[in-house]
Amino acid sequence: MSKPSYCGTDETLEVFRVAIESVTHAIFITDRDGVFEYVNPAFTRVTGYSSDEVIGCSTRILKSGLMEEAYYQRLWCAVLAGQSWSERITNRRKSGELYQARQIISPILDERSEPCRFVAIQEDVTERSRAEQRLRELSREYESIFVNTQDAIFLIEVREGPEFRFVRLNPTHERITGLRTESVRDKTPVELFGEDLGEALSANYRRCVELGELVVYDEMLNFGGGVRSWRTRLAPVFDGDRVVEIVGTSRDITIEERLKNEQQIFFEVSPDPFAILTSDGRFHQVSPTWSRTLGVEPSVLVGTHLLDRVHPDDRETGIQLLEQLGSGEEVYEFEMRLRGEDREYRWLSWSAARPTHEGLIYAVARDVQENKRLREQLIELSSIDVLTGIANRMKGGAELRRESERAKRYGVSLSLLVFDIDHFKQINDTHGHAVGDEVLRATCGAIRSRLRPTDTFARWGGEEFIVVLPDTDASSAAKLAERLRGSVAAGGYAGGLTVTISIGVAEYRNSEDPETGLLRRADDALYAAKANGRNQVRIAE
Ligand code: GH3
Ligand code: MG
Ligand code: MG
Repeated sequence: MSKPSYCGTDETLEVFRVAIESVTHAIFITDRDGVFEYVNPAFTRVTGYSSDEVIGCSTRILKSGLMEEAYYQRLWCAVLAGQSWSERITNRRKSGELYQARQIISPILDERSEPCRFVAIQEDVTERSRAEQRLRELSREYESIFVNTQDAIFLIEVREGPEFRFVRLNPTHERITGLRTESVRDKTPVELFGEDLGEALSANYRRCVELGELVVYDEMLNFGGGVRSWRTRLAPVFDGDRVVEIVGTSRDITIEERLKNEQQIFFEVSPDPFAILTSDGRFHQVSPTWSRTLGVEPSVLVGTHLLDRVHPDDRETGIQLLEQLGSGEEVYEFEMRLRGEDREYRWLSWSAARPTHEGLIYAVARDVQENKRLREQLIELSSIDVLTGIANRMKGGAELRRESERAKRYGVSLSLLVFDIDHFKQINDTHGHAVGDEVLRATCGAIRSRLRPTDTFARWGGEEFIVVLPDTDASSAAKLAERLRGSVAAGGYAGGLTVTISIGVAEYRNSEDPETGLLRRADDALYAAKANGRNQVRIAE
């Protein structure tokens, strides 16, 4: 490093030289034309230029090209007039990189009070500028959030004690509560809201300070516009270990709470079990009615999967229900059985919707167990002949069609008996209608006990009956008919009554109509048996 020409041997000067060479600020001295005469080591660190590189060169080598010409004109104007210049400047390092510096240029005056050289001190504030810029951006962002959010935000200063003083409210807070930042600033909760409420609020703030973590709670407050429900979150702001501020946000959940309450009432009064399910089919919330319907406590049901309760035979229906809901369709009257606490299954009819994609499923399940039972009973009843307890004509006809269809498809044999009580009118006429009824019942009883479970025995009308005999050819059918005839004729009727029957037998011929073919031919055979003297079996042609 070249020794500055003015550096004397004086000890004071040596002290200054050491000082200048140790500081972190870049210091350089130029002549009155701006040509470097001296630079300190910090200058080299900041600019990248060594002393040898710059001595004799113009300070223009530091120009970034970003400063306006007017800046330099003002600078030169000031320093040549003997004034100090202090302003920020953007310069360029040797590497080409820009840097920001706070610069102070002081002129050194000669004996004529004319500036003969300049001492410049530059502090590299690039990092700090960046940080300041970032800070400005951040505070702009936070301010924007603070001002525009739908939540009410309040800032509380935490003083020793701890004592709480309001600092600021955001516009949402001011709008909802009618309070103003100016009127709450520096006030304590007690000063602002009175002893009771003030203490209650402070208790929460204290909790936040003591725990040193986020505190969330619901509260009901009246700021003048009536009582409203709030969900409040208090976040502590630390300075070292100490909580110095609390950032509070309150969300108005009045409507949400009211809806929840209304839904609860709805849930409780509805006779049908209600359920809210997660999108994958788990019980999320259920009405108390479930304990009546399935004997399952709502708390037990919540969290379990719908399909885990569905009857194995109805599982497909359950899967389909969830799939349909998944694709956005509403479902109506999906009937499936659910297992109750007693392990018995009950029929429930489900109607459900999932209003939003990925959202919850809202379902009502009507208990149709009793309906199902009644329906089955009705079907059963509608197929039975009330007097004799055997199948009625509707059921007999259906079985006849079903079996002839099967015989046609699989080529198996099928026979039909048609029989009629002989001279039944006489029994009625002689012994009365009640005895006639008894004879009908007794005859049916005698016949039924000699048939296979797969045979269908039906009352065709009055005292005329059919017996559908699957997998039976004409000769086997004739033998059975003969046995039936014999057992009826063998008697055993009350009052020593003699009852006989005549039977027509026909075997199914491929493709013939069950009624106009098979039944007609058996009927003809029966007619022939009657004509031939009754109490006998005739086989159709
Ligand atoms: P056939 O040997 O030719 O069959 O003579 P039948 O007297 O049995 O024949 P007919 O058709 O003349 O009479 C049948 C009678 O059966 C007439 C009807 O009053 C009676 N009947 C039909 N249904 C019932 C019933 O449910 N209960 C009673 N007690 N009688 C019935
Ligand atoms: Mg008869
Ligand atoms: Mg008859």
